[in-house]
Amino acid sequence: MTAKGATDDARLGELAAELAGKASYATGARPFPRPVGDEECSALAAALAAQVDLGTAARARVASESGFTIACREGCNACCEVMVMVYRPEALAIARFLDRPENAAARAAFLAAYRPWRVAVGDAPERLTDRFVAGDPVGYDALHLLQFRRRVLCAFNHEGRCTIYPVRPLGCRNALALDTHELCAADHPSGRAPAALAFVPLDRFMQSATKVLRAAHNANRPSEERHRQESVCVAVHRITGD
Ligand code: SF4
Repeated sequence: MTAKGATDDARLGELAAELAGKASYATGARPFPRPVGDEECSALAAALAAQVDLGTAARARVASESGFTIACREGCNACCEVMVMVYRPEALAIARFLDRPENAAARAAFLAAYRPWRVAVGDAPERLTDRFVAGDPVGYDALHLLQFRRRVLCAFNHEGRCTIYPVRPLGCRNALALDTHELCAADHPSGRAPAALAFVPLDRFMQSATKVLRAAHNANRPSEERHRQESVCVAVHRITGD
């Protein structure tokens, strides 16, 4: 790592610690002392994603040593019918990725897929955001499940693969099915859900990373947009401006 890279990592670590320092920064009860800009938000999302990747690798080692088989494989998109919700830092990181010339094909594939995706999902993204902002976890979960059962593939999935794989949201990175992916789709006839593996260090990190992202979102957006967890497709489409 270069000296600048180490400095940037240290600075982002300090920012994450500050954002996590008070629960009220995430809930919005107390404003973060300074605005957090788009660049900082994007870098923060990337740093947290790198930490999650370390956690999922450690979980995979534990699973293997315990005799479990992780069913998730490249090209498997069984979980990409979930409507993934994000805060602005993750949306910014994806939008920046799509802005790079080398990712023009990924950007074009997303823009082509977005309109039919939007027609298929209707106003479900906005209703999910409304339930989240209203603090209604029961209504939110029910709507989320309903949407999952409609089996609409994420607009970032092109021909079975994630076009934004290096910058995919933390929730996608953390997805896991043991033994088989057959139970990942909604409404499997058996009624069973895929077997998961509790891995406390990663589970705890995911909780704290979500708080950091929420606090960064609140510090980045004007007050009326605080807490607006959104569909990743909607949020990125708005930022890319197409
Ligand atoms: S962002 Fe990528 S991994 Fe996540 S649901 Fe969409 S296509 Fe699948």
